[in-house]
Amino acid sequence: MSTFSQFNFGGKKALVRVDFNVPLDEHFKITDDTRMRAAIPTIKKVLKDGGSVILMSHFGRPKEGPVKKYSLIHLVAHLQELLGDEPEVFFASDCIGEPAANAAALLQSGDVLLLENLRFHKEEEKGDLGFAEKLSKLGDVYVNDAFGTAHRAHASTAVIADFFEPDKKMFGLLMESEVASAEKVLLKSEKPFTAIIGGAKVSDKILIIENLLEKATDIIIGGGMAYTFWKAQGKDIGNSLCEDDRLALALELLEKAKTMGVNIHLPVDSTIADKFAADAKTSNCNSGAIPSGWMGLDIGEQARIDFTSVILSSKTILWNGPMGVFEMDQFQVGTRTIAEAVAEATQKGAFSLVGGGDSVAAVNQFGFNDKVSYVSTGGGAMLEFFEGKELPGIAAIKK
Ligand code: AMP
Repeated sequence: MSTFSQFNFGGKKALVRVDFNVPLDEHFKITDDTRMRAAIPTIKKVLKDGGSVILMSHFGRPKEGPVKKYSLIHLVAHLQELLGDEPEVFFASDCIGEPAANAAALLQSGDVLLLENLRFHKEEEKGDLGFAEKLSKLGDVYVNDAFGTAHRAHASTAVIADFFEPDKKMFGLLMESEVASAEKVLLKSEKPFTAIIGGAKVSDKILIIENLLEKATDIIIGGGMAYTFWKAQGKDIGNSLCEDDRLALALELLEKAKTMGVNIHLPVDSTIADKFAADAKTSNCNSGAIPSGWMGLDIGEQARIDFTSVILSSKTILWNGPMGVFEMDQFQVGTRTIAEAVAEATQKGAFSLVGGGDSVAAVNQFGFNDKVSYVSTGGGAMLEFFEGKELPGIAAIKK
C-alpha cells in the first residue's frame, strides 16, 4: 500500500473510486454537492503532479441497466465548475467497453474523465471479478476515495484492488482522513473516552454498543432508544418509543457494562409531549415516570447538565445519533446542547468524531461542523467500523 500524498502521479492515469451519489431534484439539478466537493482535493493532487484522473462512482439504485435518471452525465457541468477552467472534464457513456477504453486512451495529463454509473452493470454490486478486471485496465493506479461505500465488497470498492500491485493502490485524501480519524477513536483513544449513542432504535445500535463496551470508559445513551433501557428496569415510559423484544437485551447490556466497569449514562429526565407533533403540549419529567398518553421526545434539563459534564471531562468523543426528535424545534434542545458540549470539549483539547447520518445533519444544522475534530461522510461505513467489522474497502487496500 502506498501513501497518496507521497505518490507522484506524473504521467499516470489514476483510476479513482469516488462517492458522487449526490441528491438531484426533478430537473436533475444537484441539491447538495458535499460528496463531490469532498473528492476535489484528491483529484487536484493527481492533476498537479501531471497525471490524469478517471473517476468512477455509483449513483442511486438503478434496477435494470441504464436509466436517464441515474446517469452521471448530470454531474459533469458541476464537476467542471468545481475544478475550474484548467482541467477539461470528459464523460464516457459506459464505465467499461469501448466508450470507457477509448476515452481513457485519449486522456492527456491534466484531464479528467468521469465514467458512467457503475451500477448500470449489476456485476458491480455482485463484486464480479471479470467486471472488476475490466475496470482495472483503465488506469495505472487505483485510488479508493469513497469511504461511504467502504463497507461494501463491490467490484469497484474492493475486488478491483487485487488487480493492482501493492504500491499501485492507495486511499485518496478523504478516505485517508476518514480511516485515520476512525482508527484514532477506536484503536488509539485517549481516556476518558465517551461514546454518545442516540437515535430511534436500540436494535440498530446493539452491535456498536457491544463493541464500544470494550473500548469506551463512558457511554451516553439518548434519543428514543433510551426508553427501552428504562422500561427494561421496570420504569414507566408512557407512550415513548420502545422495542419490547429488546428489553432483555437492554438489561444484558447494562449488566455487561457494570461488569466491565463502563459507565452507562441514561437521561434521568425527558422533555415529554402529548403527541408526536411539532405543536404538541410539552413538559419536563423523570424519564422513569412518564404518564400514560405522553412520550419522551428529547432528553430533559437534568440530563442535559449530566451529559454535558461527562462530555466536558472526556479526551475522546464519538457521537452517533441525535438525543431527541431534533427535526422539530421543541425537541432539539438536547441535541443542540450535546453539540455545544462536544464543541467545547474539542476546544479544550479532546478529539471528537461525529459519524452517522442524523448526528451529522444535526451538527451541520446547528453550525458546529467546524467546531468538532472530524465529521464523517460515511454513515453506514462508519457505523460498521465502530461495530468492529472489517470494512472490505479498507482491507482490500491494506492487504
Ligand atoms: P437513527 O436513524 O436511528 O439515528 O434515528 C434518528 C431518528 O431518531 C431521528 O429522526 C429522530 O427524530 C429520532 N428520534 C430521536 N429521539 C427520539 C425519540 N425520543 N422518540 C422518537 N424518535 C426519536
